[in-house]
Amino acid sequence: MKTPGEKPLDGKIALVTGGSRGIGRAIAVELAGAGAFTFVNYVRNKEAARETLRIMENRGGEGSLLSFDVSDSDAVQDAIRGITEEKGRIDILINNAGITLNGIFVRTKPEVWDSVMDINLKGVFNCCRSATRYMMKQRWGRIVNMTSVVALSGNAGQVCYSASKAGIIGLTKSLARELGPRNICVNAVAPGFIETDMTVSIDDAGRGKVIDQIPLGKTGTPDDVAVVVAFLVSGKADYITGQVIHVNGGLYM
Ligand code: NAP
Repeated sequence: MKTPGEKPLDGKIALVTGGSRGIGRAIAVELAGAGAFTFVNYVRNKEAARETLRIMENRGGEGSLLSFDVSDSDAVQDAIRGITEEKGRIDILINNAGITLNGIFVRTKPEVWDSVMDINLKGVFNCCRSATRYMMKQRWGRIVNMTSVVALSGNAGQVCYSASKAGIIGLTKSLARELGPRNICVNAVAPGFIETDMTVSIDDAGRGKVIDQIPLGKTGTPDDVAVVVAFLVSGKADYITGQVIHVNGGLYM
């Protein structure tokens, strides 16, 4: 039996988009472990999302699965309304869902731009727009948006992706200014090279080239990112808003 107030996020209700795999899974496990009831969003991969929930529950956490496409405004609105109807509130929103569609710029079709922007940037807009309605009424909320090192450094072959991630930084800072008076903190986390499905296809030569540029001499893990996110939504980060926190082994300073 859990004693109320025992863990840092006890009583909090969290939503992690793209919680079925990689960084999102690690974040969901971390938040549930800290006591938050955590909704694990996914779009296609139900079995992977179930596995996230199993890991959360095995470690004594609580949560539930929630399937929706972050780029679909109506679906996002219904899902977040559903959370508030079931739990009475939404305290923590982690906008983690994202895709990469890499390629040489001159060969990039407008449809690629649209897909990447719809999921990576409009997805964050959709979730923030729905969740902040409730957070404003509560006068408490914590939002963390997943950007990327390439938003700041740029990367050949990732024009659409890096533009979407740079957009997230502008959104984060403007929202932090607008919602600060309502006690809603909005921050971004910018991972470097993290070992997940997103980076698994990069061959050894490509991986070696990146590692050569990382002062700490290794790639990162989803847990390296998750602990920073958990800190940002905890009471220990109450005076941090509008920031971009880098988790990249020194790849970009
Ligand atoms: P990943 O392993 O490819 O997982 C992507 C997650 O996003 C999955 O849970 C996927 O759900 C979900 N997703 C994709 N499209 C969605 C949509 N339309 N609606 C809802 N969920 C959707 O990615 P990752 O490496 O963990 O990356 C997580 C975040 O960190 C992304 O925003 C990524 O851009 C960012 N990031 C990653 C790295 C890195 O090196 N890995 C570096 C910098 C930033 P399904 O399982 O259902 O498909």
